[in-house]
Amino acid sequence: MTMNSASDRSTDVLVIGGGNAALCAALMAREAGASVTLLEAAPRPWRGGNSSHTRNLRCMHDGPQDVLVGSYPEEEYWQDLLKVTGGKTNEQLARLTIRESSTCRGWMQQHGVRFQPSLSGTLHVARTNAFFMGGGKALINAYYRSAEALGVHIRYDTPIDRLELQEGRFVAAWSGDQRFVAKSCVLAAGGFESNREWLRQAWGVNEHGEWPADNFLIRGTRYNQGTLLRHLIDDHHADSIGDPTQAHMVAIDARAPLYDGGICTRIDCVSLGVVVNRGARRFYDEGEDFWPKRYAIWGRLVAQQPGQIAWSIIDSKAIGRFMPPVFPGTVAQSLPELAQALGLDETTFMQTLNDYNRACRPGQFDHTVLDDCRTEGLTPAKTHWARPIDKPPFFAYAVRPGVTFTYLGLRTDDSTAVHFEGRPSPNLFVAGEMMAGNVLGQGYTAGVGMSIGTAFGRLAGTRAAAAALGFARPPAGSDLCAAGAPHASA
Ligand SMILES: Cc1cc2nc3c(=O)[nH]c(=O)nc-3n(C[C@H](O)[C@H](O)[C@H](O)COP(=O)(O)OP(=O)(O)OC[C@H]3O[C@@H](n4cnc5c(N)ncnc54)[C@H](O)[C@@H]3O)c2cc1C
Repeated sequence: MTMNSASDRSTDVLVIGGGNAALCAALMAREAGASVTLLEAAPRPWRGGNSSHTRNLRCMHDGPQDVLVGSYPEEEYWQDLLKVTGGKTNEQLARLTIRESSTCRGWMQQHGVRFQPSLSGTLHVARTNAFFMGGGKALINAYYRSAEALGVHIRYDTPIDRLELQEGRFVAAWSGDQRFVAKSCVLAAGGFESNREWLRQAWGVNEHGEWPADNFLIRGTRYNQGTLLRHLIDDHHADSIGDPTQAHMVAIDARAPLYDGGICTRIDCVSLGVVVNRGARRFYDEGEDFWPKRYAIWGRLVAQQPGQIAWSIIDSKAIGRFMPPVFPGTVAQSLPELAQALGLDETTFMQTLNDYNRACRPGQFDHTVLDDCRTEGLTPAKTHWARPIDKPPFFAYAVRPGVTFTYLGLRTDDSTAVHFEGRPSPNLFVAGEMMAGNVLGQGYTAGVGMSIGTAFGRLAGTRAAAAALGFARPPAGSDLCAAGAPHASA
């Protein structure tokens, strides 16, 4: 057993992970007066996990605020979450996330995060989401700078593979033969989306004899292997929540790399056209709801298609109404030509497109509202933004399932404590993707991942500091910003 510098210095709070949730926890614990060590599996250039790929945070607000227009009250936010999760959410924790999202931005700015208004024309989010200037990478860099300035001890290249616990109490964390001792610990090491073998097991074999997960691409970091999730659930019998096949999954450009393709691999024209599978048939309502509320179900829908591939088809009327993908799509002057270029059965493809075009009812097209352009007598229906695909040139983008993050996680409550057979640990806490399944049983709405990580990261840091320093448990709902030491503006 090697005792390293971290354990020699007898850290109060150990934070495992190096993304948004971990950094929020580390900063809050430090501000509350605890000594903090943060252990990141990735080397420094790859620090920050999936958080470094993000762009925005979904925020409740009662009126126009700096970069946010209009208002987005708690009840509307809650109804949005309820709808996308189909009720598979914990209302208390969801409302905690929502309320925290209305007060956290000042604190984020004190740690160097800057916001900017949303770009127009892509997602309908100017009212609901605050965008990070410079994206998630800039946010992560600001938090690391602030953490360093406040004296948080940071170690890269340190993947933790197991924990030492005594009856649910955290004692130490291990990375190979290195042991890290602390008075309390926050787990913020992401989901298991980068672990292809685990995804393979979870998804199994489909009715076509295929292993769907073999065709999944991972949109973010390769370091979220779920090592600690599995260890906690299997070896320590921590209480878990969620289904291992549930995840935030986006239909992304089939040409994306296996890891870290990031935001630019998204194909955002689905609601402006139709999507067909390898059999050249449609399989879901492309206009069911605004794209930010639906984009995260399309990866799963494509995963359920043969060969785990599909094609988003648009005509030139759609151009200029969505963020263009990085790589050009397949272009053709006629629909039969497009079918040939894609290698799809031309007769079926034309039947699908002709049926769709004939079923489109005239309406007032408006992509910014749930308009009245819909199909009639078609299965599946397209319920909004349905316009005939008839104006050449025609475009197609091949899409594959892109896993953003998995929802299987550790069960928790408003204390953020990890639970063992229903009993909360006194000094082991969890935040971010590792517990997002408490709020997201299924589905997604844009920006809520960072809301969850920020709310629970900050709370977990406060709780971990209290546990380490022997403070009384802060009352639930107390103002997190009230904690401790001066802010570093980095
Ligand atoms: C392309 C992309 C775009 C996204 N855009 C948005 C967006 O705009 N808004 C939004 O709300 N959400 C977005 N998300 C989702 C968002 O990234 C997550 O919800 C959020 O970042 C989760 O934060 P986290 O800290 O829990 O996980 P992460 O940021 O993934 O951090 C996990 C960290 O743990 C480390 N780690 C893993 N295992 C270990 C271990 N065993 N030991 C030590 N460290 C370990 C990893 O290296 C990583 O640093 C996006 C995700 C992707 C992939």
